[in-house]
Amino acid sequence: MKVLEERIRQEGLILSGTVLKVDSFLNHQVDTELALQIGQEFAAIFGDQPVTKVLTVEASGIQFAMAAGIALGVPFIYAKKNKAVTLSEAVYSAPVHSFTRQEDYRISISRKYLGPEDKVLIIDDFLATGAALVGLCEIIAESGAELLGVGCVIEKSFQEGRGLLEQRGVPVHALARIASMSPGEIHFIDQEELIKESAGC
Ligand code: 5GP
Repeated sequence: MKVLEERIRQEGLILSGTVLKVDSFLNHQVDTELALQIGQEFAAIFGDQPVTKVLTVEASGIQFAMAAGIALGVPFIYAKKNKAVTLSEAVYSAPVHSFTRQEDYRISISRKYLGPEDKVLIIDDFLATGAALVGLCEIIAESGAELLGVGCVIEKSFQEGRGLLEQRGVPVHALARIASMSPGEIHFIDQEELIKESAGC
């Protein structure tokens, strides 16, 4: 998504070799028009599939899951994060280790809102190590719902998240894929070029 890549180039701040700050337009202050366009882009990618629910993890996936849910005409659910180890029978839950924050937490979703009849699309802001989304995959598996795919706004392709999800057979689509980054320089994977190559053009 060219407009997204442009914004990342203009406003993204590289905090270290692996952390990109985009909180002027994506995940602190949110450009609402761009968020809605992002939702429509995900709906264009996954709209031919029978999605019944969009899932994300609080907090920074919420605006994109909502935009995708609106564009697809389905509800979205955000998994709640908590440090407490108390498990209730009323929730599906999975442990997650955050490499960015070096902490362990659990994510949970009420059993009332997800079940074997559901076909799920996961949406999130970043795909990095994939730990949070693997936790979400475990919750979906436990619920008996079917996972149709994962859509991420930004993928840091030099981290292992995509590989972990693809190993589980989950199709992954990212709107901007960063091949490498260093202060003042961001290289995106040219997705149009990849499509042409795979079509043999
Ligand atoms: P994971 O490592 O599990 O793929 O990423 C978990 C979460 O950490 C993402 O959903 C995102 O909210 C946050 N995150 C990971 N990498 C970055 C980054 O480079 N920049 C920002 N702003 N958040 C990130």
